[in-house]
Amino acid sequence: MTTRIAERHAGSQIGTLLAETGLGADRDLWQRRLEQVTAEDVEAALQSKPGSYSIDRLLALVSPAAEDYVEQMAQQSQRLTIQRFGRTIRLYAPLYLSNYCVNSCQYCGFNRDSKFDRVRLTIEQALAEADVIASEGFSDILLVSSEDRESMTMEYFTELAARLRGKFSFIAAEVYQMTSDEYATLFAAGIEGVTLYQETYNRDTYSRYHTGGPKSDYDMRLRGPDDMARAGMREIGLGVLLGLANWRLEALALAEHAHYLIRRYWQSHVSFSFPRLRPAPQVDTVKFKHLLSDRELVQMILALRLCFADAGLVLSTREPAGLRDHLVRLGITKLSAGSRTNPGGYSGRGKATEQFRVDDSRTPAQVASMLRKQGLEPIWKDWDRGFSQP
Ligand code: SF4
Repeated sequence: MTTRIAERHAGSQIGTLLAETGLGADRDLWQRRLEQVTAEDVEAALQSKPGSYSIDRLLALVSPAAEDYVEQMAQQSQRLTIQRFGRTIRLYAPLYLSNYCVNSCQYCGFNRDSKFDRVRLTIEQALAEADVIASEGFSDILLVSSEDRESMTMEYFTELAARLRGKFSFIAAEVYQMTSDEYATLFAAGIEGVTLYQETYNRDTYSRYHTGGPKSDYDMRLRGPDDMARAGMREIGLGVLLGLANWRLEALALAEHAHYLIRRYWQSHVSFSFPRLRPAPQVDTVKFKHLLSDRELVQMILALRLCFADAGLVLSTREPAGLRDHLVRLGITKLSAGSRTNPGGYSGRGKATEQFRVDDSRTPAQVASMLRKQGLEPIWKDWDRGFSQP
């Protein structure tokens, strides 16, 4: 049985691991285990060393039984985050480059079947957007693109990165999945972090929501972070789209993936993002049965912090201002601010469709001011590419 599973996931050790544990499919066992967690189990998990990971510890912290312990979890998480990161929050801005897409993700307004006027930015247009972002104080930029290989080529990214390097100390990308060689090319060009969401670790759910295009291959998607790490990428971002499947089980699979990467690739730093499904043009969120409440999102963030002391925890403007203001005190280490999720949105050169609706629409200066009022230091720059050069 194990041999057959291994053959099916050849080349992807994380795929094998998820299949063997039952977190990739047939998750009934884990569902039962979650329901069996007792208050004593949660208290034992809270008494063990904060920041250390075991799947049993995380199971206790994401269980329904832990809902009564969120306040204690918050206190531990706050202490641990201050110990490891100080009272600082990194700020970044996303730059959307294209909304042409060959995939059919059923939850996304950019999917290939959606009818709207699509936009892709030329390098010059992207630089004009970046100028606005830099003028707001940002030194950390995230390049975002849908799967548009025809125009968003390697040459495009390498030239754009080369021209952004003088203005931004850290450039990351959230683009279509690439090969290890392509990630190495991005890294050489100055893009030092990549985020690739698995969206859901549940194989059947993945197939249901990814009905066409290259992204519909679950196993290929799962291999992406290994390829980034082999290419030497400094930051690897992981996450699921919260709302597609049971968040407690997704948190377990996500943590197993992170643990697997941390053990194998010491040179890369792993971070987690927490995108919740948001209303988007031509997407009806009513049909999603696993949407999280604010309290559940907080529990998930705290549980992951208490198992991964050094992981970056990232929260975008998808989330409402009040919740973000609360979470920056409890474990989040990186925030976007003033985001536009449509290509051309910063310079106002067009009214392109947004990928999702932003909830926190405060300006970067207002977000920085909120942080200072809470005794936190907004960090616009915490890295210089010179640090990683021999
Ligand atoms: S989630 Fe990404 S890959 Fe999927 S349709 Fe939207 S833009 Fe394309």
